[in-house]
Amino acid sequence: MPLIEQTLEGKINKVKIAIERIKNFCPITNGFMDEPYFVGYSGGKDSDALRILFELSGVKHDLVHNHTTVDAPETVNYIRSIPNVEISYPKMSMWELIVKKGIPPTRQMRYCCSELKERGGVGRFISTGVRWSESVKRKSLRGLAEVQTRKVENKLTLLNDNAENRRLFETCQLKGRRVVNPIIDWNDEDVWELLKHHGCKSNPLYEEGSDRIGCIGCPLASKQKQIESLERYPKYKEAYLRAFEQMLKRRLEIGMMFEKKTSRCKCRCKEMEECTGRDGFPATRTSTRF
Ligand code: SF4
Repeated sequence: MPLIEQTLEGKINKVKIAIERIKNFCPITNGFMDEPYFVGYSGGKDSDALRILFELSGVKHDLVHNHTTVDAPETVNYIRSIPNVEISYPKMSMWELIVKKGIPPTRQMRYCCSELKERGGVGRFISTGVRWSESVKRKSLRGLAEVQTRKVENKLTLLNDNAENRRLFETCQLKGRRVVNPIIDWNDEDVWELLKHHGCKSNPLYEEGSDRIGCIGCPLASKQKQIESLERYPKYKEAYLRAFEQMLKRRLEIGMMFEKKTSRCKCRCKEMEECTGRDGFPATRTSTRF
């Protein structure tokens, strides 16, 4: 479906709609806070689409990339080439975290996401390039606007930005992260069309056939993709191996035993990508959707 579509009910312009969403939830013009949007920028195509839409909207925002220390060098270089991106560095690298946690990150315990990739924006209105078409799970869990709480069952998810929903979002008393996802209903073609139209070259890894820009050795990727990325970046593979060695040494030093029983996410999800619970133990998958 193209970005501008002629329907029986008239023209649908997805770019215009996304820009209106950005404006409609703007924290400053709505008087919710003095700080502008905190826009997460990963260096992937969805992030680029979001970046361009924010530029077109003229709405104040901070474009922030959370460096994970395991981003592909191509991604790091690409992000550095984009003007106005603030690069935020973590307190600990992936290698230090592995030793500290005593376990490598896994699908069930992807502590690296919260400690490295999803840092920052505390108390701010966050905007992301999350889209429903990325996974079936996202379709069922994510919305145009969300108030994300520690308890997943309390989460507020709005599917559109009509006046009533906006008021509900803005006045909601729940303590949590306020997130706006302006391109939630876009598909891949929409994203590429926008990037092409605005002359955005995008991350060079796409040209080499990558369909997703992720961290090197990410446990959320398939086994094959993990192996491929570690083979492609042998220095990172060595760094992981060194970190595992140090991790084992530390476990012995502090008497940290291996348990046979493995913990599982209570939601029983196969991929933990959407679990917002702490350390991979979200209570339930229910949430309030409007
Ligand atoms: S994307 Fe993967 S490797 Fe990167 S921080 Fe998240 S779980 Fe960890």
